[in-house]
Amino acid sequence: MTDRYCVFGNPIGHSKSPTIHAAFARQTSEDMSYEAVLAPLDDFVATVRRFIDAGGRGANVTVPFKEEAYRLASRHTPRAELAGAVNTLAFSRDGILGDNTDGVGMMHDITINLGIPIAGKRVLLLGAGGAARGVVGPLLDARPASLVIANRTEAKTHVLAKHFKALGTVSGSDLPDLAGQQFDIVINATSASLDGTMPDLPEGIFAPGSLAYKMMYGQRDTPFEIFARNQGVGTFSDGLGMLVEQAAEAFYLWRGVRPEGLPVLAMLRGA
Ligand code: NDP
Repeated sequence: MTDRYCVFGNPIGHSKSPTIHAAFARQTSEDMSYEAVLAPLDDFVATVRRFIDAGGRGANVTVPFKEEAYRLASRHTPRAELAGAVNTLAFSRDGILGDNTDGVGMMHDITINLGIPIAGKRVLLLGAGGAARGVVGPLLDARPASLVIANRTEAKTHVLAKHFKALGTVSGSDLPDLAGQQFDIVINATSASLDGTMPDLPEGIFAPGSLAYKMMYGQRDTPFEIFARNQGVGTFSDGLGMLVEQAAEAFYLWRGVRPEGLPVLAMLRGA
């Protein structure tokens, strides 16, 4: 019988995950299906349980259910434990395992797909929501010279920095205090481009040859991209590669086979 997987979210109509996992299944000759499931905002847990009862083997979880998925899981991987959020569930007789593959997905995209090392770099992370939380641990594991977290609501950055301080050099900041500092890697983990804006950044923060990385994908010429290019950033990338690589890691957790992300990324960019 074909093994069933899905992604739960709300909204979920425009998810690229079914296309990505179908491509991975073809590439690795795995017998599996993958669908998008709209979970009602007040009925996530029952929706997951119905999927398990119908034979579901695993699932991805996206906005706004990552924290609820964390609470639902009976066991967590260390990286999910650290992030306090889950984007991947695996169902078995032992219960529900919760994992978080967002961080490893972004790291793979930056360090391997884009070929930009993080060790020794000055890194700025914009945002302090679920996505930012998922990447702080893996970023610090890569030993940057420093990691500064800046957010519209400054208080959240200090909570995050305190939570992760045992792992490396990390501090919180408000946006105006970035004036006069320079960074080699600037990661935009905010959802500001949803309303056509960007965090209120001072000029001059991009070091020569720096990388600007915007986790949100699918929109071009956003205010952040225009600002970064006008400020002379060396490389600009959106988070489509992160989406593909977090999916590859989830696929590996479920199937024990690691698919190649780059051909699937090229297919999505071509489409
Ligand atoms: P959250 O809702 O948890 O957090 C949103 C963050 O964006 C907060 O820090 C918020 O600041 C900030 N923000 C929102 N609007 C503005 C604005 N107008 N100006 C400045 N800051 C703003 O969302 P997530 O962390 O879950 O997701 C963030 C983005 O990352 C989403 O767009 C999501 O699609 C993307 N993402 C991409 C992935 C990928 O695979 N490529 C994976 C995961 C997420 P404040 O605290 O002040 O409200």
